[in-house]
Amino acid sequence: MITSERQKPVFRFAPSPNGQLHLGHALSALLNRDMAEAWHGRLLLRIEDIDQARCTPDFEAGILRDLDWLGIGWESPVRRQSEHFAEYQAALHALIERGLVYPAFLTRGEVKARVAAYEAAGESWPRDPDGTPHYPANDRERPEVEWRDMLASGRKHAWRLDMRKALALTGELLFWTETGDGRSGEIAAEPEAWGDVILSRSDAPSSYHLSVVVDDALQGVSHVVRGFDLFPTTSVHRLLQVLLDLPQPLYHHHRLVLDAQGRKLSKSEGDSGLAELRARGLSGADIRRLVGL
Ligand code: GLU
Repeated sequence: MITSERQKPVFRFAPSPNGQLHLGHALSALLNRDMAEAWHGRLLLRIEDIDQARCTPDFEAGILRDLDWLGIGWESPVRRQSEHFAEYQAALHALIERGLVYPAFLTRGEVKARVAAYEAAGESWPRDPDGTPHYPANDRERPEVEWRDMLASGRKHAWRLDMRKALALTGELLFWTETGDGRSGEIAAEPEAWGDVILSRSDAPSSYHLSVVVDDALQGVSHVVRGFDLFPTTSVHRLLQVLLDLPQPLYHHHRLVLDAQGRKLSKSEGDSGLAELRARGLSGADIRRLVGL
């Protein structure tokens, strides 16, 4: 049987060029490539550079060099998120029109101060799975006529999902199909754990959550293979897929590569950086061994 391009499984490796790739990224990229090969699928590379303050062309060039050295090939053209803000804005506007998002005017510092004052009084404040405090309720309750005036007067703002409204709309429990190293099977999404997630920032016309679901759908991604640290975010992604009427991919969250102290690797750790390991004379095959493949 001949499988047409359209029927082939589609995998993607989606790094952010805000630092150098390390062994954890190597595991992710190699697994995507191995699985794409095993399933006779396609492998896409997506550069997630919506944070223009932290992402640089140098880091992006480093990513391409590292992948090339690992022997990983990808399809052209590479999708660069900073070139697609209009698509994320279109998705955001669809949600604004349905009253599911609201403009949020508090700065990060103001939220922090508010939460600190609350906690100093002995009250507990909900935090998301990353430990970030949920956004306070004030802006969510503001009548539309009022926020429209504030926007018209040029007030800086982000856009946040009204989680309670969104959940009321989707009604029943949402699930995703997981084949990863930890929990697998049908996983019940828990988007409420994230509070009113940010969908568009005051300094970037999108957010990680919004662009990742829009891109996975636009690129026809059928298999999302990524690190276990992103497992909890899948709850938000499932909810957005339902709200935006997007297809759902299968998910495979793989184990993380840890340092000698058992901590997740970070982009600033030189000794596990791929460029550093290459400079020390290691080969792509050595890297496969180092990440346990
Ligand atoms: N850009 C994200 C990162 O570098 C990965 C996003 C994803 O795979 O969904 O952590």
